[in-house]
Amino acid sequence: MPVYRDAGFELYDAKTTADAFKKETEHSREPDLYIYSRYRNPTVVAAEEEIMKLEGCEWALLTQSGMAAVDTALSVFQHGKESRPWLFFTEIYGGTISFIESVLRTRRGLDIQYFTPDNSNYDLNKLEKIIASLKPEFVYIETISNPMLIVADVTSISKIAREYGTKVIIDNTFSTPWLFKPLSEGADIIIHSATKYFSGHGNLTAGVLCGNDKKLMQDAIEYRKFVGHTLSPDDAYRLQTQIQSFELRFSRQCSNAFSLAGYLKKVPVVREVWFPGLKDHPTHIIAEKLFKNKGYGAMITFDFDGKDQVEKRSRRDEFIELVSEKIKLIPTLGDPHTILMPVEAVWGTKYPEPGMIRLSVGFEEYKELELTISNALKKIIAKA
Ligand code: PLP
Repeated sequence: MPVYRDAGFELYDAKTTADAFKKETEHSREPDLYIYSRYRNPTVVAAEEEIMKLEGCEWALLTQSGMAAVDTALSVFQHGKESRPWLFFTEIYGGTISFIESVLRTRRGLDIQYFTPDNSNYDLNKLEKIIASLKPEFVYIETISNPMLIVADVTSISKIAREYGTKVIIDNTFSTPWLFKPLSEGADIIIHSATKYFSGHGNLTAGVLCGNDKKLMQDAIEYRKFVGHTLSPDDAYRLQTQIQSFELRFSRQCSNAFSLAGYLKKVPVVREVWFPGLKDHPTHIIAEKLFKNKGYGAMITFDFDGKDQVEKRSRRDEFIELVSEKIKLIPTLGDPHTILMPVEAVWGTKYPEPGMIRLSVGFEEYKELELTISNALKKIIAKA
């Protein structure tokens, strides 16, 4: 695929220029005439078509980051004084929450509402009452939440939302289209941080929003063009290359995570393991319904046991040090190798278990991965 690095494209004469600018106001997905790379670029459009195949959708728009995709997806629902409330699940990426609070509520003055889970599950009766009374413009959900890995019943939620004229925006970064395609279950816009599993190598930052509704696409193309969120042609090229191996990588990551979660569950110094594939996970049944036994994602969160907070923290820190040669502390996910993050250091007291570690499971050889982890845990158990 050629990489078109041009900032602007040759338009030859006044008539062609006038035609191109007139056509541009239609915000079609693939323009006949390219004008300027901030508007649209052929390399970016080609990469978008790869994602459309994966999601099975009518349009996909690439952005410079997952957050730029979030901003674009949300902003198309902003209608000045006419804007209805926006309803967000509390269990979403921390960066999205910060954006909501600092930009959407504080700067843009939008009416922001939240929906909180009970006991690590979403009560849909409660949700329906809230939607019925607020009549929000949209409800915003992550299919698999972070770091508790709560699976949202997107199918039922979309059905409820539709009854009240509420749109559904799904951040599907953790589950990916390999496990679940929310558009076919009634969602209106899908967002991905393509920085994660789509790119899959921890070496580029990108985002994408996808959908089937033409008007939403036109509004999103216009907004992306105005604010300059469009992905660069070089990054689009790299993304479309790396995405070729997405299913191979992600299916292996899911199976590694499934095996590792089962192993961790049996370790004495591990108090609890959160993984939707485990039968005792609060949303295991929903995960089975949505993902149809293909897998349960590649994220695991677990918590160290200990007589007090000090011992839990010290076991967590010892583990991080013992595995550090093979499993790095890197604050992202979806990389080729397993990486980890201490939950307390990132989320503070939101999840008040100081021994918690979040693992993003890689696609390395499973035996080698379990050996690295079991060697570290054996040393911790020996001291217990
Ligand atoms: N959505 C989820 C679920 C994420 O985990 C992240 C980042 O970690 C984002 C969105 C934002 O993506 P990016 O970092 O590519 O802007």
